[in-house]
Amino acid sequence: MYISRRKFLERGSLAVAASWVGVGKLFGQADVIAQMRASGATAKIAVVPARRGVSVLMGSGGNIAVLPGKDGKLLVDSGFSTSKTQITEALNGLGAEPPKTLIDTHWHFDHTDGNEWMHAARATIVAHENTKKRLSTPQVIAAFHASFPPSPAGAIPTVVFSDSDSLQTNGERIELKHYAPAHTDTDISVHFVNADVLHVGDTWFNGFYPFIDYSTGGNIDGMIAATKLNLGRAGATTVIIPGHGPIGDRMVLAEYASMLQAVREKVAALKQQGKSVEAVVAEKPTGAFDARWGGGFMNGEGFTRLVYQGV
Ligand SMILES: [Zn+2]
Repeated sequence: MYISRRKFLERGSLAVAASWVGVGKLFGQADVIAQMRASGATAKIAVVPARRGVSVLMGSGGNIAVLPGKDGKLLVDSGFSTSKTQITEALNGLGAEPPKTLIDTHWHFDHTDGNEWMHAARATIVAHENTKKRLSTPQVIAAFHASFPPSPAGAIPTVVFSDSDSLQTNGERIELKHYAPAHTDTDISVHFVNADVLHVGDTWFNGFYPFIDYSTGGNIDGMIAATKLNLGRAGATTVIIPGHGPIGDRMVLAEYASMLQAVREKVAALKQQGKSVEAVVAEKPTGAFDARWGGGFMNGEGFTRLVYQGV
């Protein structure tokens, strides 16, 4: 019951590959990553207004937030490098100023692959110090049997922080905060304070089971904690940008939080009975949730395996 190859290519996201755990042999891991990157070349970019000048570019890897203005554009995440042409066109549609600042929400390549060209276009790259470390050194994502070489020098963040940071640009105050390990150990949130738009990176997959990257520090309990933190920060009218999926709000995020908690509890109870991961998968602990959350990036089996690993 894995998603189709066609759907996988259409979605063009790192998370999609998680559904291929176990069928990686069909394509080989290097091929999966190469296919995802290649999908960026033909990706169509949708520009969705969030609030007060903040827009979201959707279609190439993770969601890219943009705040244009006289100081130069501020961007959050850079998508696939192969989408440079379409992303440039979308950015030009938002104003003539060049990119000035690029913030990476975490190290994953569907969020940082465009770093090098955006830096060449004059953007300074800001990220958590762990993102710099991981982009500077070889990385492995075991769930995909995938290896990543160090990124080129121009793609490495040059402004880093450990706990929090803030910056002021285009009449907006932007606050950056590191999460305790959740999706990875590099995750940060980006809050446009005046607009009250909160980009939460891959701590939230809106409408889909999330991928959790245990290889680089992620775990299910961290995802739940990060989601609770996001709920605590968001007000009733906060616009929340997920790493993947449509823009949402506190109510939709609360539904995701309940799903994470419920699946975690079910899987933990079964594991505590001494059941193997295969036995737990066979019991379909996500059964009640698959119709709502299992239709896109990752199916119930893949998510069950990720939760099992962390409880
Ligand atoms: Zn990610």
